[in-house]
Amino acid sequence: ADDLPHVSDADPTAKALGYVEDASKTTDAKHKPGDSCANCQFYTAAASGYGPCQLFPGKAVSAKGWCISHTAKQA
Ligand code: SF4
Repeated sequence: ADDLPHVSDADPTAKALGYVEDASKTTDAKHKPGDSCANCQFYTAAASGYGPCQLFPGKAVSAKGWCISHTAKQA
């Protein structure tokens, strides 16, 4: 999965969802400290590097990234 093209912040879907490669850089009020793709249920890869997100088919998001659709993984 690491070989998928990485979603860029300029990608139209990324913009629509407020995706950022680095969760610490978001200015969106919905972001809660500690939330990142790595702990989102739509992220299906290891907790580091890049991996697939169900909302970005065919692309890889950063484990450290974040978007407004973040949903905490069920424990
Ligand atoms: Fe990251 Fe989750 Fe948003 Fe996908 S839905 S980009 S895994 S925060």
